[in-house]
Amino acid sequence: MELESILLPGVEAQRPLIIAGPCSAETPEQVLDTAKQLAGKGIKIFRAGIWKPRTKPGGFEGVGVEGLSWLKQVKKETGMYVATEVATPQHVYECLKAGIDMLWVGARTTANPFAVQEIADALKGVDIPILLKNPVNPDLELWIGELERIYNAGLKRLGVIHRGFSSYDKKLYRNLPQWHIPIELRRRIPNLPIICDPSHIGGKRELIASISQQAMDLGFDGLIVESHCNPDAAWSDASQQITPEVLEYILGLLVIRNEKQSTESLSELRKQIDECDNSLMEILAKRMRVAREIGLFKKEHNMTVLQAGRYNEILDKYAEQAIQCELEPEFIKKVFEAIHEESVRQQVEIINK
Ligand code: PEP
Ligand code: MN
Repeated sequence: MELESILLPGVEAQRPLIIAGPCSAETPEQVLDTAKQLAGKGIKIFRAGIWKPRTKPGGFEGVGVEGLSWLKQVKKETGMYVATEVATPQHVYECLKAGIDMLWVGARTTANPFAVQEIADALKGVDIPILLKNPVNPDLELWIGELERIYNAGLKRLGVIHRGFSSYDKKLYRNLPQWHIPIELRRRIPNLPIICDPSHIGGKRELIASISQQAMDLGFDGLIVESHCNPDAAWSDASQQITPEVLEYILGLLVIRNEKQSTESLSELRKQIDECDNSLMEILAKRMRVAREIGLFKKEHNMTVLQAGRYNEILDKYAEQAIQCELEPEFIKKVFEAIHEESVRQQVEIINK
C-alpha cells in the first residue's frame, strides 16, 4: 500500500500521536469543557462519538447530527482537529458537510464488509484521514480486507486502531489485546500507522497506563484515549474514562524507546533467545514423538486416549513448580494445555488409523 505518512498536517510525526476526548459527545458544555482542558495540555486531536453503536438497545446511542456543531465549535475555540466515528454513508456525508477532520470506523462496523464497502463508496474521491478499528473478532485478514476497501476507494491517509478483541470469558481486560495480531499487521503493512486504544482494551481506567506503555514498547505510533471532564458521570464507558489531568499524568510517565536502536548487547541477548527457542522446538518434537508412541500403546491395548486424572496431575504439578521458577502459573497452565491438546490430537489420529 502506498500511504501518505502524515495523517494531519502540523501534528508532530514523533511518537506517540495522541487523540483524546470523551467516549460520547453528551452536551455542548461537556464537549467544550473537556476539549479546552485537553487543548491546554497540548492535545492536538479531539475525539468524541456522535453515533454510538451499543451492544444492547436502551443504552445511550449518541446525540446524532446535533453534536457535529459542537465539534465545529471545538475547532473554532481550541484549534484542535476533531474526529468522530462513522458507521453509515449518511454519517460520512454529515461529517464531510460539517468539516470534521478525521473519521474512524468502529469495531462493530469493521466486522461487516457490506458496511465498510458502503463507507468506502461514500468516501470515493475524498481526501480525509480515516482510522479503521480492528473488527471485534480476532481476524487479521478481515481487518486487512476492510483496509483494502478504503484504500481502493482512493484514500491514502490511513491508519488503524488496535482496540482489542471480544472474548467470552472476560477476566482482566474488556477486550483481549492479542498483541500478536497488530504485530503481524505491522509486519505485513510496515508503513501503516498503528494507534492503540487502551481505554477499550482495558475497560478500566487503572489499566490505561500499563497498556499504553506496552503499546509504545511494541513500537506503536500513537494512542487514542477516552478522556472526560467528569468521567464518573459519563453517559457511556464511564469506568474507562479519565480526566484530562490524569491523561497528562499518564502521558508524562510513558517511556518512549527508540525501536530502531540496536546495540551489541541486544543482539547477544537475541542469540540466547534463539538458542532457547531452538531447544524448545527440539524438546517439543521429542515430547510429541513419545506421545505418539503412547498412542500406539493405547491402540494396541484398546485404551481411551483421554485419561483425565493423569492430565490434572500434570497441570497441578507444573502450576506449583511455576512459582518456584518465577513463572506465572496461569501462563504455564496455558502452555501445558496447548501441548496436551496437541498430544491428544496426534493420539486420536493414531488410534483411528
Ligand atoms: C468508541 O471508540 O467509543 C467505540 C465505540 O469503540 P469500539 O468501536 O472500539 O468499541
Ligand atoms: Mn467508548
